[in-house]
Parts: sequence; structure tokens; C-alpha cells
Amino acid sequence: MGKRSYSSEADYVVVGAGSAGCAVAARLAEAGEQVILIEAGGSDKSIMFKRPGMITMIHSDPSLKKRFDWGYYLSPQKHVLNRKLPATRGRVMGGSGSVNGMIFVRGNAENFDSWEAEGNKGWGYADVLKSYKRMEDWQGPASEYRGKGGPIKVLENPHICDAAKTFIAAGADELDVPVNPDYNGASQDGMHVIQENTGRGIRYSTSRGYITEGTLSTLEVQMRGVVSRVVIEQGRATGVEVIEKRGERRVVRARKEVILSAGAFGSPQILMLSGIGPAQHLEEKGIRVIGDLPVGDNLHDHLFVPMTYAVDNSPHRSTAFHFGSGIAKDRFKPGETFMAHSVFEAGAFVHTSLSTGVPDMQFFAIPWSYPPFQDEPVRLRPDKRPSLSVFSTLIRPKSRGTVRLASADPMAAPLIDPNLLSEPDDLKVLVEGIEMLRAVMSNSAIAKHVKEEYEPGPAYSGDKLKDEVLRRVSTVYHPVGSCRMGVDERAVVDPELRVRGIEGLRVADASIMPSIIGGNTNAPSMMIGDMAGAIVLGETL
Ligand SMILES: Cc1cc2nc3c(=O)[nH]c(=O)nc-3n(C[C@H](O)[C@H](O)[C@H](O)COP(=O)(O)OP(=O)(O)OC[C@H]3O[C@@H](n4cnc5c(N)ncnc54)[C@H](O)[C@@H]3O)c2cc1C
Repeated sequence: MGKRSYSSEADYVVVGAGSAGCAVAARLAEAGEQVILIEAGGSDKSIMFKRPGMITMIHSDPSLKKRFDWGYYLSPQKHVLNRKLPATRGRVMGGSGSVNGMIFVRGNAENFDSWEAEGNKGWGYADVLKSYKRMEDWQGPASEYRGKGGPIKVLENPHICDAAKTFIAAGADELDVPVNPDYNGASQDGMHVIQENTGRGIRYSTSRGYITEGTLSTLEVQMRGVVSRVVIEQGRATGVEVIEKRGERRVVRARKEVILSAGAFGSPQILMLSGIGPAQHLEEKGIRVIGDLPVGDNLHDHLFVPMTYAVDNSPHRSTAFHFGSGIAKDRFKPGETFMAHSVFEAGAFVHTSLSTGVPDMQFFAIPWSYPPFQDEPVRLRPDKRPSLSVFSTLIRPKSRGTVRLASADPMAAPLIDPNLLSEPDDLKVLVEGIEMLRAVMSNSAIAKHVKEEYEPGPAYSGDKLKDEVLRRVSTVYHPVGSCRMGVDERAVVDPELRVRGIEGLRVADASIMPSIIGGNTNAPSMMIGDMAGAIVLGETL
């Protein structure tokens, strides 16, 4: 659609076509509402986003990455050697869900029940399960836990190699945990094959599932426009201001509501630019305060530490030639090569000694070598040997930080400070996870295939390992919580996702999570978009 034909008014204006935004916009349009969905990035029709196996390439090549990433970095992290870690965020239709690893995890039932126990009525596991089932098209039959016929195809990675299989067997034996046939089912605990949101060799982001494959005659998608603020008149959101590529500004009016789905960095940034945020901070930036709310507080994220082993049972090599031949084979057998699936093959949810009833540690396994240091704009070259990389992942972080404005300029990157590892227990969990993974990799089910731990290497143990973790730890790109949902004075949105004190304005994305769920955050963000649609439409869930 040409830009000249863009409309300037609809019933609902949704900002951000990411994992949550596409779902909420499509849900409203399906119900016949006129919806305008505004996205800063461009189309996701390229093979780069469609083919799951392209993920490694798009993240390794800075010139490609510039085309879809906001290019943010965290503020220097005080407890992590003052490192400036990358904060990758998709800027394209489908948002981060178009550039992510496609691991499909709903989260532990207890996570949602704890949201509900805090007063967030309607967000307990029994409620969100209905949304999860409605959203998915699971490879198996519909059941108490799984949905069939929804817009997002979900399957177990069918392409798992021997290295991943032996990792699962070794983990189950060494840690005395089950091999779980469905970690999105009755229980999360144990070792597993990864489930992914793909189908027929294609990534199923919400952009694909809900919009490209939907029939939505009342939805208008407007790309390449950055929303700079919400227009608020007499305490009511009546539209948004959009800055076009060449700098010209226009206003898009919402007859009913504005819904912000710009993600855990974008939504708080837009709210603050609109005068809704911590009053003193806004005044310092010269922004007139409309609502004094703790927008941007409670930012938190998962962290992981990659470890890489040379093994003799992985078929892959992290070389340009290996990827090139994968792409070539994919042309002749589309959907049948490793390019058709997530690079993640196996994983686990387990408990460290610090867990309080639910898993606090997640493992991932990929049969490739993984570049150990992530801070460079250009990632270091991975080792060329057949390898298995495994990740110790902190999934119940205690550390909390903030998103703030660097300036009142809407085009300036926000200041993102998750205050990583400010709580000492977070480092303890990561180190314990590494020790657990070392035990797993020494188990007889896999040990005979393991040639060497070369990242970080056995020389790092005890205090030396703790120091090394600070050099290597990376965020998992799962930021949440910066527009927290709740019923208390410090909440930004209420359980119906309405911004407190402002009419006609909601937030629906990962930023509303009161606390991060145990597991990857894409499926929960999709669920939040779907739930938002149901809430706005007044559907009985
Ligand atoms: C590299 C990477 C790998 C990941 N791997 C996984 C994984 O394997 N599994 C998993 O579950 N999760 C994964 N995640 C996390 C997951 O993708 C996110 O949690 C999820 O996509 C968040 O959804 P969202 O709707 O909150 O935000 P997003 O999907 O980020 O959507 C926000 C959208 O808003 C747009 N936007 C922002 N500001 C503006 C503005 N001012 N004007 C207009 N548009 C704007 C953005 O361009 C974007 O399209 C990964 C993330 C990354 C970055």
C-alpha cells in the first residue's frame, strides 16, 4: 500500500507490530473494528525473516542487522564490569518475534498464578491457558493443554541431531530428572526437545500467523513510521503523532482507544515522551507531566552464559561454507534441511539449590559453536570444530532496573539499565548452572563424544569462574516489566491493561509483565496480545 493512501483515523490505533501488537490488532480487526497498526520498521517478507535457519546469519552480519535492529545497547552495567551489552530488538513487521530463536515456551503455571495472587484477576494459569490454546496450531491433537487450528504453528524440532539427543539423556541421568515429552503441558520440569513456532519450514511470528495469513479487511498496516507520542486531550488518549522517514509529522486519530505494543523499551519511552512517567525525570527532560507514574521501573531480563564443547556427534560446523551449503540445499528441498528449524534443539527446566519450588534454571543446547563474547558490534568468529553449545540460564532474576529517556528527542535511544546482577543470588544461580552443565557433559551418556570444553574452559572454576561469568554473561533479549501491571499505587497499568489515570490508553506487550515468566518470553508476549484483544472486546474468557 502506498504511503499516500494511509488513513488518519480508525477506531483503534495499535503502536508496534511485534509479537503482541500484531495479535491484538488482528483480534480487534477480526471482530470488525477499524484498526490502524503503526510499525517503525519495514516488511518481514524477506527470506531472512521467513526461513528459521537464517537467524545465525542475520545476527552475525552488522550490515544485515542494521536493517531490522534498533541498535540499542544497555547502559554500562555496574555489576558486570561496566560492560555495555547489546540490547537487540526487532524493528520490522513481527518485531523481535521476526528475528528471534523461535523457542516456544509458555512459562510455568505458577508464574501466572502468582500474577493473579497479586490482584491481577483474569491472569491466572487457567485463564491464560485458554489464550495459549486459542493461539496455537500444535502439531499433535488438541488436548487439555494444547490447541489446534490457531494462527501460530507450533511443533517439536524434528531435526535434532545426536549431540542434542545425548545431551538430553545425559541430563536426565545426571540430574535425576525426567525427559519431559511436553514442557508446555502438565509440567515444565526435566529435559526436553525444543518446541518452536515454525511450520512448513517458515517462521510463525504473529505477523505471519495473524496478519499475512489472516483475512482482515478492516486492518490497515502503516510501516516505517516512528510514533513519537500519544496525543492526550483532557485526560483522554485521542491519537498518536507519527514521524515519517523524512522527518515529517502527522497525527493518526483513534476514535476509541490507543494501544501501545512497542515492547519493553518502546512502550515506556512513548509514555514518557507523552508526559506519563516519573514526574521528576520528565521535568528534568523538559516534558510537561500529565501522569506521575513509575513508568520504566521494574525492568528485568533473563541472563545466560554460553559454554561450548568440541564433540564428535554434531553434524554442523559454524562456517560460512556450511551455512552456504545449507541455503543451497534448502532451495531444492525447502523445509527439509536444518534451515527449516530453530538452531535450538534441546533444553531443560531444572532447579538450583536456590530455587523456591519452581525451576529457576533453563538449559539450551545448540549443536554449533557459539561466539563467547557478545558485546562487539561484530561478533567474534565462532570455532570451526563440530561443537555443542549449552547455556546456563537464569530465569527467575531478582535484579531490577529502569528504562529512562536520554532526552525529549523521540528519535534518541532510551537509557536502558536493567541493573544486571545487582542481586548477588543471580550470579550464584548462573555459576551453579554452569557446574550442573559440567556434570551433565561428564555423564557417561555423552562423555565419550566430548573432546574438550573450550569455552570457557576447565581452567575457570571457583572464584575464577565467577569473575569469568562477568566477562561472558549476556542477556537473553527477554526484557519485561517496564510498564508493570498491578492493582497497587506503583502499577502502570491495571489488570485490564489500562494506563492508570488516562482514558482510552492501554499497554499490551512484554512490558506489562509484573515479573518475568520462567522461560522464553515470545509466546507469553503473543498471549498478552491475544488477551488484550479479548479484554478490549469484552469477551468472556
Ligand atoms: C535476538 C532475539 C532472540 C530471541 N529469542 C527468543 C526465542 O527463541 N524464544 C522466545 O520466546 N523469545 C525470544 N526472544 C524474545 C521475544 O522475541 C520477545 O520477548 C517478544 O518478541 C517481545 O514482544 P513484544 O510484543 O513485547 O515486543 P516486540 O516484538 O519487540 O515488538 C515491538 C514492536 O514495536 C515497534 N516499535 C517500537 N517503538 C516504536 C515506535 N516508537 N513507533 C512505532 N513502532 C515502534 C518495534 O519496531 C517492534 O516491531 C528473543 C528476542 C531477541 C531480540
